[in-house]
Amino acid sequence: MATIRENELEKESMKRDFYHLIINGEKVKSSTGDTIQTFNPATGELIAEVAKASKEDAEKAVEAARNAFDHGKWKLFPVGRRAQVLNKIAAIMRARFNELVELEMLDTGKALHAAQGQVSQAIEDFEFYAGAIVGHRGTVNNVPGQFHNYTEKEPVGVCAQIIPWNYPLMMAAWKIAPAIAVGCSVIVKPASLTPLTAIILGEICLEAGVPAGVVNVIPGSGAEVGNFLVEHPRVNKVAFTGSTPIGKDIMGKASDTLKRVTLELGGKSPSLVFEDADIDAAVDGSLFGIFYNSGQSCEARSRLYVHEDIYDEFMSKFVEKAKKLQMGNPFDKGTHVGAIIDQGQLDTIDGYVQSAKKDGAEILVGGNVAKPEGYENGFWYEPTIIANVTHDMKAVTDEIFGPVVVVMKFKDEKEAIRLANDTEFGLGSAIWSKDGARATRVANQIQAGIVMVNCPFSAFPGTPFGGYKQSGFGRELCIETLDLYTETKSILSYYGSRPLNPFGL
Ligand code: NAP
Repeated sequence: MATIRENELEKESMKRDFYHLIINGEKVKSSTGDTIQTFNPATGELIAEVAKASKEDAEKAVEAARNAFDHGKWKLFPVGRRAQVLNKIAAIMRARFNELVELEMLDTGKALHAAQGQVSQAIEDFEFYAGAIVGHRGTVNNVPGQFHNYTEKEPVGVCAQIIPWNYPLMMAAWKIAPAIAVGCSVIVKPASLTPLTAIILGEICLEAGVPAGVVNVIPGSGAEVGNFLVEHPRVNKVAFTGSTPIGKDIMGKASDTLKRVTLELGGKSPSLVFEDADIDAAVDGSLFGIFYNSGQSCEARSRLYVHEDIYDEFMSKFVEKAKKLQMGNPFDKGTHVGAIIDQGQLDTIDGYVQSAKKDGAEILVGGNVAKPEGYENGFWYEPTIIANVTHDMKAVTDEIFGPVVVVMKFKDEKEAIRLANDTEFGLGSAIWSKDGARATRVANQIQAGIVMVNCPFSAFPGTPFGGYKQSGFGRELCIETLDLYTETKSILSYYGSRPLNPFGL
């Protein structure tokens, strides 16, 4: 057992053979001695062993978080002081940017440009909430005469934060930053496949001055430890990012204790390219929209609809550029598409592609497991474009979560909107058109939490991120996220000169 002290991280490399749990400000092994092995998906090599939390460890984490929340000082700190600590977290992350990028790349196999962007955004999240929290406040409300009413935003309490493997550090930042900004305590459950940077972030929080017990990080099995937190009566809120089926399961189980729940779930986001679009910009944006992060993005624009008048021109450019995408050494600046997270995900992706082929779809590019030179033992899939699809094919209806896009033609705006909305999901969407009136009209009719107009990017700190329909509910990355980590308390007072006697007795 070792306590994390000021500047200790400066002495210890982020790359280690063994990573501890963080419970109550201490780095600890699991109570069972069990570990998770984590591998580099680009090479298949073992990176490290990680302490694997048991239910007993999770109970200790709940106890620590509860104690920090119920009896600790963090939530009582003046807001400016909490903001200062958040800024310090960001400063430490910035000072160790390259190490964070490297560790994230080793754990996920993602390309350098993707890891750099995501680590930058994780840092900016803390800076954003350091600013946002200062303006987060209750209201003074209109009430009759001698009454006075105001509201306070009080932290909701202990929050279980369960995160996926596709953006391990960024998702941890999206969750930890707003929660601790308002004064909550958190128990972070990283994905078993990618626990490393969330653990390091937990250590950085402590180094920056977050008191013991406010941020706990416990990698462990989702089905066991994640579920335990969801059902735990002393946990007040669950913030979950992950797949839609697990999100549904969590929502059901959290109902027993009526926990506050936010769910950031899967997607099958459409991109609509109209006949008046800047075709080159739409091609470049659509390539990024699906192949960024190897398609392992919840808001990946994996359904592409192109107006019939420009279909041939668009597709010839889209296919030509897709063939130029480079895979291979993730640390090479020229690598566009990184690895797939593991063999299971690789099989899932290939299964969808093969089923589309069997159903009569046409593979225009890719369609195979890849073996980039020197990375033959890793998990890679060729950037894949599938045409000649119908809306009942699995490759069109399901979230594949890989570098695979399906493409269809449309005739007019009405059909484009109908096709875009013909899905159970509603996370992202994109519109490519030079006509601002059309873009606005279509944006208003798309059933999705995020609409990107002539823009390949889905979010920056400050822009709400979250879904409609079965993509979940609640918004992260924005000011209103702070409301999702607080309760509103209404305080109604009477200041009249005579006591009130409502019963007239
Ligand atoms: P996942 O399988 O649903 O797992 C997500 C997290 O939940 C992991 O930490 C997992 O732990 C845990 N978990 C699994 N079963 C659980 C249970 N019964 N109770 C509580 N926790 C449980 O998702 P994933 O494969 O890691 O991530 C990919 C999915 O995330 C995709 O669907 C993607 O669209 C979605 N995603 C959504 C957003 C968004 O903002 N909407 C952002 C990123 C990703 P283990 O790792 O131990 O299984």
